[in-house]
Amino acid sequence: MQVITLGTGNPIPSPDRAGPATLVRAAGRDLLFDCGRGVLMRAAAVATGPMQFHTVFLTHRHSDHISDLNDVITMQWVMTPGPTPLRIVGPEGTQRLVDLTLAMLAEDTGYRMAHHETLGYEPVVEVVEVADGVVSDDGGVRITCAPTEHSPVKPTVGYRIEAEDKVVCIAGDTIPCDGLDRLCRDADVYVQTVVREDIVANIPAPRLQDVLDYHSSVTQAGETAARNGVKALVLTHPVPGVAPGTEQEWVDQARAVFDGEVTLAADLDTFTL
Ligand SMILES: [Zn+2]
Ligand SMILES: [Zn+2]
Repeated sequence: MQVITLGTGNPIPSPDRAGPATLVRAAGRDLLFDCGRGVLMRAAAVATGPMQFHTVFLTHRHSDHISDLNDVITMQWVMTPGPTPLRIVGPEGTQRLVDLTLAMLAEDTGYRMAHHETLGYEPVVEVVEVADGVVSDDGGVRITCAPTEHSPVKPTVGYRIEAEDKVVCIAGDTIPCDGLDRLCRDADVYVQTVVREDIVANIPAPRLQDVLDYHSSVTQAGETAARNGVKALVLTHPVPGVAPGTEQEWVDQARAVFDGEVTLAADLDTFTL
């Protein structure tokens, strides 16, 4: 099994970090988690893309996590030779998001159908809304989800992927909570979006300080990892951006409370289990 941090950015545009998106390769399947800015560019870098995605999973509907969902839908539709459903799993509200996205794309859809004789059908998207429990269990891959806490964004979910005798947790944006503990218990890899509380609290920008109350701090991510017997913690979506030369500080903060392996992920980092 492999975990590839396709995009490790936060909402603020960065020259080096694409928007939030993580690829899990398990039992021959490419599973995409979130669709942030530039997701298909990063996917192309590891020779995958809309035709190869077995399922697209969404953690929540904040724009940084779904900004390129429309690109995934359009490219899956155009690049696949025949009508093939794109499977999207997400929390309640995902169907509405997909319906609105398809409505936004309606003109483009019309142009392409008018132009290509072989494209006589609209994008086919199959949505499964999930809340808590087993999402799927087939082909040697078991996926479960649990509610996370990112209020006022509701509902939000994280995912646990079990395959090849390994466990990966994709947490999304959340503060520590019971659902998160269940998802990452004994995980080999736990991917968590994080903020540096010590930096953000001292930046006099109320809109930035607001993010502290609904994200895990680096220390909290380390505590969650320690409490649940995680082997490796992967920090992603760092807020604020990482100042050059300070990468080790992020790792050290988590290591102060967690004995396992800690990585501050960059785009396209690959973790092989
Ligand atoms: Zn969010
Ligand atoms: Zn986010």
